Amino acid sequence: MQFIRDIQKKRGQAGKPVVSVEFFPPKTDAGMVSLFDETLKELDVLDLDFCSVTYGAGGSTTDKTLEMVTRIQNTLKIPAMMHLTCVNAVREQLAEVVDKAVDSGISNILALRGDPPGGTGEFVPTPGGFEYSYQLVDFLKKRGGLCIGTAGFPEGHIHCRDGKHADWDHLVNKIHHGADFIVTQLFFDNHDFFEFRDYVYEKLGRPVPIEVGVLPVVSGKQLKRFTELCGARIPAAMLSDLDRIGEDDQAAVQYGIEYASRQLQELMDAKVSGIHFYCLNKSYSTIEVCRNLGLKGQRGQ
Ligand SMILES: Cc1cc2nc3c(=O)[nH]c(=O)nc-3n(C[C@H](O)[C@H](O)[C@H](O)COP(=O)(O)OP(=O)(O)OC[C@H]3O[C@@H](n4cnc5c(N)ncnc54)[C@H](O)[C@@H]3O)c2cc1C
Repeated sequence: MQFIRDIQKKRGQAGKPVVSVEFFPPKTDAGMVSLFDETLKELDVLDLDFCSVTYGAGGSTTDKTLEMVTRIQNTLKIPAMMHLTCVNAVREQLAEVVDKAVDSGISNILALRGDPPGGTGEFVPTPGGFEYSYQLVDFLKKRGGLCIGTAGFPEGHIHCRDGKHADWDHLVNKIHHGADFIVTQLFFDNHDFFEFRDYVYEKLGRPVPIEVGVLPVVSGKQLKRFTELCGARIPAAMLSDLDRIGEDDQAAVQYGIEYASRQLQELMDAKVSGIHFYCLNKSYSTIEVCRNLGLKGQRGQ
């Protein structure tokens, strides 16, 4: 399947952002049916440039992640990226998963350290495995034949004790080790992103494709839970709007669409190279945001 870096190059030459969507492996068979028979079918109108599939805590979804990425590529003909983490895995196990992925036609991997199972607490490296994601990037680069993505944090990584600039230096190191592009954590204040992008480009001495991670909010309660886990800041005005909306889910979805549309318009005006939707396995908000912005991928062209 196509390398994402080639898609980025082509879209960049056309002056258009790459449009992608992230899914997580559903827990149930019914969830899987709904994802493929409803969500992915509905998203077809967006002509997505690529999709990505997360990797559950501690490798708990290895088979499902592989199966989903393969199915998206083979049946829907959409390039897909597999997320891969270092949690609970020695190098030989990671090599086995990567071999399986490559044998199934997967060419794009998002190389992550991962969070401890449960999402909180201190990350403990597995003896014989990797402590940081740059080591996984290095491992994949040396293996060859892959396009490698890495995670970036516009507000700095939640557990980086030395602050955001130290975290961004670690990101630059991941690029030096062979990552082809960055996918960011969700953020709601574009100033954070612009400062992050300027810093990274200056340190690198060149631009690198960055897919901005955008979450069209669907519920205030859920957003607070997510941001507690990943450390993203909810701007005060957004927080008070969501508190006012309260339990009115329909109003929250509409608010999320309007917020993400405004946020993305500003990012598109600032020529971001790509937009990565955290769609939570649903299509509605992502489609509405894209419709508001006249945003579409260009798969197959
Ligand atoms: C787009 C995206 C997708 C994600 N998908 C998944 C997923 O599918 N499954 C999952 O479990 N998690 C996922 N995550 C969460 C991610 O695994 C966590 O945020 C994790 O805590 C950090 O991963 P990383 O790859 O950035 O780690 P690293 O790059 O290893 O960084 C982890 C911490 O170590 C620090 N650090 C990095 N390098 C060094 C160094 N050389 N020396 C000292 N300190 C260093 C960093 O500043 C940071 O604080 C995703 C995150 C993003 C942004």
